[in-house]
Amino acid sequence: KNRTRLSVPEYVAGVLSGNRMVLSRAITLVESTLSSDQDLAEQVVNGIMGATGKAIRIGITGVPGVGKSTFIESFGQLIVQKGHRLAVLAVDPSSQRTKGSILGDKTRMETLASDQRAYIRPSPAGSTLGGVGAKTREAMLLCEAAGFDVIFIETVGVGQSEVMVKGMVDFFLLLMLAGAGDELQGIKKGIIEIADAIAINKADGDNISMAHKAKREYSNALHLFPLNKNGWMPQVKICSAVDKTGLDEIWDMILSFKEKMEDNGSFAENRSDQRITWLHEHIAYLLEHRFYNNSTVKKSLSEHLSDVRSGNLSSISVARSLVDVFIKDIENG
Ligand code: GDP
Repeated sequence: KNRTRLSVPEYVAGVLSGNRMVLSRAITLVESTLSSDQDLAEQVVNGIMGATGKAIRIGITGVPGVGKSTFIESFGQLIVQKGHRLAVLAVDPSSQRTKGSILGDKTRMETLASDQRAYIRPSPAGSTLGGVGAKTREAMLLCEAAGFDVIFIETVGVGQSEVMVKGMVDFFLLLMLAGAGDELQGIKKGIIEIADAIAINKADGDNISMAHKAKREYSNALHLFPLNKNGWMPQVKICSAVDKTGLDEIWDMILSFKEKMEDNGSFAENRSDQRITWLHEHIAYLLEHRFYNNSTVKKSLSEHLSDVRSGNLSSISVARSLVDVFIKDIENG
């Protein structure tokens, strides 16, 4: 791996000019765990902030096998053909386990991957969702600064990561299958509630009538939820990523969402709320990180673990004393 670094102005100028190689290196920098890289990355991100925020940010989720990569390949091609530049980022909290990213497989999204109007970036490795989330957000900002005006953030439908992705996008799309049953699809009610739209994929061949039936059922179910505070009523669409049907309707829906939200002020308000949430989330993440890496804390924690485990000491009181130990240690430099 190339370990040489560019200077901050070189990264900033390269990203702003849309240089894909510099963009990739800047994202690698953001993903680095070396503290010298993190300092550099911070300056680079600060340098490009003025050029961010102009893209429409779309989260795409669904259980493995629902057709996410096929959908992104087809939907992405439609979007670039309309004159947009598309960046696809992935969040995969399980990548630690599988030792690879969900976009790492070269056979996925072949056509899109070789299209100069699209940029596909595998998910960052990381041991905590908070760390991965921060890297993904900064990668998204870098892509925007490089001129990508549509961003997809793909995540596997396994729970926590959806909520995190929802917190970084403007529009959240849930892919589902007809007739598979909610449990079978591993979709929790909570995820349906945060979706701005459900797209029932694989509506082709013998599946079409079942897809229409599922569409009616989901539409009815969604109407039972209270209306979002932004005034948007979540929609249900059917599509086939393979036959490339229903995709135009989904894009039109997203554009109409954007227009409505911009008109009523919710678009900007949501982004501002998200920035404040990121601030607090990242403070919590950094504090936790420093806490557990503090050598005095580590020592004290290991001394108390067995007493907490056995119930000899209260978890709460040990937690309090560890935080006191941490703060004293910092104050003493
Ligand atoms: P992912 O795991 O969610 O990324 O799903 P994939 O995109 O890898 O798709 C899983 C399987 O479903 C593959 O065999 C695809 O060819 C198939 N598939 C995806 N979209 C469609 C579709 O619209 N119709 C049909 N019939 N098959 C599809």
